[in-house]
Amino acid sequence: MKILLLGSGGREHALAWKMAQSPLCTQLFIAPGNAGTPQYGQNVDIAVADFPAIRAFCLEHAIDMVVPGPEEPLVKGIYDFFLQDEQLQHIPVMGPSQYGAQLEGSKAFAKQFMGRHHIPTASYREFTEATFEEGMAYLAQHPLPVVIKADGLAAGKGVVIAATTAEAQDAFQQMIRDAKFGDAGKKVVIEQFLTGIEMSVFALTDGKSYVILPSAKDYKRIGEGDTGLNTGGMGAVSPVPFADATFMEKVEQQVVKPTIDGLSKENIAYNGFVFFGLIKVGDEPFVIEYNCRMGDPETEVVMPRLQNDLLELFKAVANGTLAQQAIQADPRTAATVMLVAGGYPGDYEKGKVITGIPAATATQLVLHAGTKQVGADVVTNGGRVLTVTTLAPDLASALAASKATAAQIQFEGKYFRKDIGFEFV
Ligand code: ATP
Repeated sequence: MKILLLGSGGREHALAWKMAQSPLCTQLFIAPGNAGTPQYGQNVDIAVADFPAIRAFCLEHAIDMVVPGPEEPLVKGIYDFFLQDEQLQHIPVMGPSQYGAQLEGSKAFAKQFMGRHHIPTASYREFTEATFEEGMAYLAQHPLPVVIKADGLAAGKGVVIAATTAEAQDAFQQMIRDAKFGDAGKKVVIEQFLTGIEMSVFALTDGKSYVILPSAKDYKRIGEGDTGLNTGGMGAVSPVPFADATFMEKVEQQVVKPTIDGLSKENIAYNGFVFFGLIKVGDEPFVIEYNCRMGDPETEVVMPRLQNDLLELFKAVANGTLAQQAIQADPRTAATVMLVAGGYPGDYEKGKVITGIPAATATQLVLHAGTKQVGADVVTNGGRVLTVTTLAPDLASALAASKATAAQIQFEGKYFRKDIGFEFV
């Protein structure tokens, strides 16, 4: 199979690494890729949502499958774009339809879907400009803290956890009246604050059947001890120590199965990953969010633990035979540590030369994110630069080995968290 993978992050480097191992893979292209992805395929200078350019490339190179890494092409309707084009409709796209991608693209859509299918989530109400005063009154009597969310995509910044009513009303007003998040904040979800510990569960589905992949926990804050600003993710571990068989059975029966059954009942076309952002409250799972693609950096720990041939799974999704597949997970622990540019997630510089990247071994991989090849040099090209993943018999050894390599890689301004997985070691 000739595959076109869309994206340029650590997630895509991990997916490229995994797909390139498959005997089914005859050629792999990555659009646009990074300085690491040419280890496993050929980079193509096309942006992830440039549908006309993607179309031309697929036809010219007789592509057999498209694998979108990030949400942008999915939310913009790449699945439907292929289906509606006579010359492209034979090429499976691993993702949901644009309608289904609203599970990630619209928080109100996701909450309504969960309501219809009795999937546990925080109680909520949605408001618009027309119901602005009602929203302000609702907040005035809401218990604190309270969670205010812009409906649409806001790069992880559209969620405010307010400790006071004034702060809550201010955030609400900024979203609806001051268009702080543009159209994304025209509708706002106000929801109950849940106290618990978060984790991520991933399923692959053809819209009727599903398989559950290894689960993971990511670390979003820039500072040690989960402090400071939110980032795209500073590290991740898999498996999640508290997600034992009893809890995962609840996750499957109360969350994953009703979600896939809901997609099927509502005839929502969905051929790809479902990311369940969960919070464990007491012993019960609640859904915080859905994403319609894999997580980053979670993919960097999930793929190394997935023993199945990923392209076999994708083929089964495309053929509707996913029910015959069973997931095999490496029993070892994977831990990844993200190296970021100085100043990230605020302003940071690019173009710093990176040295000391070791070759992959049987148990360790350096996955590129914001990197670029400039002549003979690999230079920084984003806030999140590289991630080091290690597989080991236990979490402490996996973390120690990832951190040792993270310390050895050099670029000006480098920073990484030294406490990934801190609650578990
Ligand atoms: P991201 O881009 O980080 O995935 P997002 O913008 O899609 O975020 P959410 O995942 O819904 O937004 O919320 C971001 C974070 O806010 C969550 O990871 C969680 O830590 C916190 N959060 C959201 N909803 C709640 C809630 N109801 N109770 C407690 N914390 C919450």
